[in-house]
Amino acid sequence: MLVMLTVKDLHVYYGGIHAIKGISIEVPQGVIITLIGANGAGKSSTLRSIAGLVRQKNGIISYNDEDISRLSPEKIVEKGIVLVPEGRKIFPNLTVMENLMLGAYLRKDEEGIKRDLEWVFELFPRLKERTWQKGGTLSGGEQQMLALGRALMGNPQLVMMDEPSLGLAPILVKEVFDIIKEINAQGKTILLVEQNAFAALNIAHYAYVLEVGQIVLKGPGEELIKNPQVREAYLGV
Ligand code: ATP
Repeated sequence: MLVMLTVKDLHVYYGGIHAIKGISIEVPQGVIITLIGANGAGKSSTLRSIAGLVRQKNGIISYNDEDISRLSPEKIVEKGIVLVPEGRKIFPNLTVMENLMLGAYLRKDEEGIKRDLEWVFELFPRLKERTWQKGGTLSGGEQQMLALGRALMGNPQLVMMDEPSLGLAPILVKEVFDIIKEINAQGKTILLVEQNAFAALNIAHYAYVLEVGQIVLKGPGEELIKNPQVREAYLGV
């Protein structure tokens, strides 16, 4: 399989705190990769580093064989990598449609934008019914859908998602994971960070377990789900 993204020996520092201590991951094209681990393990920091949002970092981050570790966040988005941040971060005072179109702000291909908007409305029919509603008045689940939809409007190749199921009711959690699978089936590569280890391992082709800034385990999702260490620490069984 063609490797799309490679992170090699990544270190991240926040002032004096050494938050990521040498993480290496590989994301092949077309798959779902997940990072699981307890609070503070460094999952978000890893995604934010790839997205160019972390200042103090060392290591190699290469995307389609190009070193992107020193590129600005804008340039990284241009390359086709998008981050759906934790806590949704939509624009509360803009309408659903305005939020979605902001996701396409770097694009000039009108036809492609139209096609992706239709696709987003197919994935999230609720958004289609609410195009004029202010983002901030949507329910938590709807805002999560809007955040995902906005990310897809940039026509990314690699979609990074930070805790997309956080704070959602169980029925919505299932919906979000079904949609992640569908987005992947439509050709997008996914790097997913989740606290919901069971659901994440269930859909992931390959997974990494992080503990205090390091990878302690890795393997296919279906293997890790059976691993006694993972079951005890992250699945509560
Ligand atoms: P969570 O699931 O709680 O979001 P996480 O696995 O995503 O956790 P990170 O958010 O990456 O973990 O945090 C890793 C470590 O870095 C933590 O100890 C955290 O306190 C620290 N950290 C993260 N962001 C900052 C920051 N901006 N300034 C200082 N320390 C930070």
